[in-house]
Amino acid sequence: MRTSMPPGIPEQPRLLILDDENPTGETLQRMAEHNGFDARHVTRPDAFFSLLASWTPDVVALDLVMPDMDGVDVIRSLAQRGTAARLIIISGVGSRVLDAAERSARAHGLDIVGVLPKPFALTALREMLARAVRHLGHGDHPGPEPGTASPPELTGEDVRQALEARQITLVYQPKISCRTGTLVGFEALARWHHPQRGVIPPDVFIPLAEAGGLIDRLTLDVAEQALSWLSQLPADSSFNGISFQPLLGAFLSLNISAYSLGNRELFARIDQRRQELGVSPERIVLELTESVAMQDVTSALDNLTRLRLQGFQLAIDDFGTGFSSMVQLVKLPFSEIKVDKSFVMTAQQSAESRSIAQSVVSLGQSLDLRTTAEGVEDEATLEQLRGMGCDYAQGFWIARPLAPAAVIPWFRERETARESRRIEALEQLGLLDTPPEARFDRVTRLVQELFSVPTVTISLVARNRVWFKSRQGVDTTQSPRDIAFCDATITGDEIFVIEDARADPHFEHNPQVEGPPFIRFYAGCPLCLPGGETVGTLCVVDTVPRVFSPEEREQLADLAAIVEEELTLAQEDTRDLQTGLLNREAFQAQAGSAVALSRKFGREVRVICVRLLNLAMVNQRLGRPAGDRLIRELADLVVTTLDTEQLMGRRRGTEVAVVMTGPGATDVDTQCQRLAATVRDWNEHQPVAMPRINCEIASACWHPETRASLDQMIRSEWVSHTTIIHD
Ligand code: C2E
Ligand code: CA
Ligand code: CA
Repeated sequence: MRTSMPPGIPEQPRLLILDDENPTGETLQRMAEHNGFDARHVTRPDAFFSLLASWTPDVVALDLVMPDMDGVDVIRSLAQRGTAARLIIISGVGSRVLDAAERSARAHGLDIVGVLPKPFALTALREMLARAVRHLGHGDHPGPEPGTASPPELTGEDVRQALEARQITLVYQPKISCRTGTLVGFEALARWHHPQRGVIPPDVFIPLAEAGGLIDRLTLDVAEQALSWLSQLPADSSFNGISFQPLLGAFLSLNISAYSLGNRELFARIDQRRQELGVSPERIVLELTESVAMQDVTSALDNLTRLRLQGFQLAIDDFGTGFSSMVQLVKLPFSEIKVDKSFVMTAQQSAESRSIAQSVVSLGQSLDLRTTAEGVEDEATLEQLRGMGCDYAQGFWIARPLAPAAVIPWFRERETARESRRIEALEQLGLLDTPPEARFDRVTRLVQELFSVPTVTISLVARNRVWFKSRQGVDTTQSPRDIAFCDATITGDEIFVIEDARADPHFEHNPQVEGPPFIRFYAGCPLCLPGGETVGTLCVVDTVPRVFSPEEREQLADLAAIVEEELTLAQEDTRDLQTGLLNREAFQAQAGSAVALSRKFGREVRVICVRLLNLAMVNQRLGRPAGDRLIRELADLVVTTLDTEQLMGRRRGTEVAVVMTGPGATDVDTQCQRLAATVRDWNEHQPVAMPRINCEIASACWHPETRASLDQMIRSEWVSHTTIIHD
């Protein structure tokens, strides 16, 4: 039995199915034929696109997940071909993914009938097919579903009354730093609490407000609520050791409708309210959707530029959904770009989504814009975004939009959990209460010299104390956490600077300011592990106030990056078994960064290489243990004779090398002579039957402007001194 088609519908509408699973495709085909369709089923995208062109189906049904081709790819190709066919999406993947695919298809301008999750019920399929033909030949906007008896449509008038009755309130969705997880801001999202219908989402009432000429009023109402909420966030208090500091600087993102963009009066009022509440404009981000930014570029440009000049931040929302071009983006004065959630939410399933997300992030970076990914729904996606170098993340995985009363409890709970993870990561490092190490002291000495400050430390912030892994100019090994400047530094992601502690309301009465060591100036850079935990700081302290220039900030950050690298190296096995010095890989890596650092700061590097000339012979004649002993003895002599704070390693099987930087890198030739004397002396004291050390000691001096690698500099032209000891 065949069901007949309703009037006005093509006699036999054509349905083309692309599904790589034969049984599913065939069931669908049979069902469709049963419902009056001329249906064909293909399993491969190439066959699909060729039939699409030659057979011109009215409806296509598409499986999202296929081995050969990503469903999202097919959707894009369909859009590129300007397909008029209506689209049914079928798939077994989670409904949220289907949802995103549907949004993406709509954004591509495709006409979607609906989404059919697999395995599908026959009734659902029949209903979908009926819906597919209902509007064929009637233009492309489907009306409401019959049978879903709905209350009268909401109108602009309802929105006006809602505004008057203050039924529109806000929820706040947190935004965090991808790298460290630190809270950076909130996006305000509107909710309408309808007395009869419950909560109505903004997707429904914002368009009504726009159509009804009420959007400016709504935007102002939203801005006022959000600003007063922001200005009342507790900033200075703390709870069980949890600092509320991040709330003090949190951004507030507000959504601005395209229709409001030209309204100068509106922005003047927002600005006025902001001033009254003492919120700085840099903390306010105005989000505009991509389509908005494009509509009328020149007039938008004026308004946006004015807002930017007033200090507001501007974000381009939902980027990637279709309307923008890079050229426009460069023209407009944006400070942030938000990757649309349809790509972020599908990043786990779709390679295309991932690569779009990556390219938006890269685009943002190349234009010097902050990037935010929204729609982060799982940890794996957050990890990926971090790897991509995305700045901020927002999404259900971090938090759903929160009612005002839920914000502080959420923050408290999250920070408590982060603090225990931080402490755990710090303890895992295994550095607390360990002896000083040259690899850290090298950096602090360089910092001390570079900034000419009396005090430099690498401070690890433990549960109740700050312990110094490296310290220059401090006698104690630790100080209580509650009075430490470093504790304030680790709550944020940026360098923290107090130029004059006596003029700072938070620190003027600090015991370390009022009493010894009489801190006046402090600059600390957070030290962050690859997992995002901020375990400590690299900080400089002075007893007189001083200014800290942007260049100095950058230098401190560069040096902190080196310390961060060292912190992670500590977790790996980097020692050479025979000599106890750094092994070849670790030495090469550290020497490389020491050379790069010296080049950057215009410092000379000196190298001493000591090559054991008779190792092969000793191995051969007396056996490997004798050879091992000889290289170990040589290494010990190098360590005891030369400045132990320098970088030493076993550069080759037969070679121990020392890279000297900083103030200790002087008198290298004298040091070489001393070493030669020590070796000769050692040789003289060996019993007759024991092997002697035959070696070559060479030193080289390398100027920062020389673009040579370590290997190159050890070769002839830079060598200033050579001694050969041949017994
Ligand atoms: P939007 O600006 O893109 O806001 C983000 C939307 O994504 C919010 O939906 C939020 O709840 C949702 N979202 C956030 N994280 C996730 C996630 O991990 N998964 C999923 N599936 N969704 C997530 P919401 O609150 O329904 O807002 C929808 C849109 O309504 C907003 O999209 C915005 O364009 C508009 N809107 C909301 N409030 C206002 C407002 O005050 N003024 C104006 N003009 N538009 C607003
Ligand atoms: Ca938004
Ligand atoms: Ca968005």
